[in-house]
Amino acid sequence: MLTILIISLAIATAAGAVWASASIHSPFYLRSLCRRSEAGAVVALTFDDGPDPVRTLELLEVLARHDVKATFFLTGKQVAANPELVRRIVVEGHVVGNHTYSHSGRFPLLNLRNTVRELDDASRAIEEATALRPRLFRPPFGVTNPTIARAVKELRLLPIGWSIRSFDTVSRTPRAKVLARMMRRLHAGAVILLHDRCPGSAALTEALLGELRRRGIRTTTIDKLFNVKAYED
Ligand SMILES: [Zn+2]
Repeated sequence: MLTILIISLAIATAAGAVWASASIHSPFYLRSLCRRSEAGAVVALTFDDGPDPVRTLELLEVLARHDVKATFFLTGKQVAANPELVRRIVVEGHVVGNHTYSHSGRFPLLNLRNTVRELDDASRAIEEATALRPRLFRPPFGVTNPTIARAVKELRLLPIGWSIRSFDTVSRTPRAKVLARMMRRLHAGAVILLHDRCPGSAALTEALLGELRRRGIRTTTIDKLFNVKAYED
């Protein structure tokens, strides 16, 4: 009986959390920058969940070969494990932002104190590695709620969403299909969501950059697209 009660309570809590949260595209709790159509023939490539010691390195080589600068939303735990790689990302002219410390599925369920800690720990890890304190923040899973909104305000972070999701994390989908899907959704000033932890991320980016060049579309970083500061002074 007690078990049933606990399970029902857990379900009710989870349902409440879902009810009380909003997607990154909804300005209900938190206004996020998701696109800038007036920017013209330019898009911003963003890579979440890294850095990954193998895949991010492969990706950096592709970006360097194409002379493209991107924006990386890093998790603090990956930064702490790979500080040298984070420095390389910055030295090569890319921009880094906050994607929480542990990227836990429970992040939207945390109280204010723990939410602030997740965000602050990630910013601190990036600052320790690069001497730069990030302002850009991408919520994991694109979920926002009043607690996240308060924490973001407290830490003066700038929430960044996306307008094109690549679905590159679904490993069964063939690369050509992932690419075709992104191309169908392409628009001026788009923010494209990719993941540098995924196998094949470098190859997908290579194909994407080729396709963008054929169409005469430039790439830029998030701070330049929205004309905002990527780091605190
Ligand atoms: Zn993520």
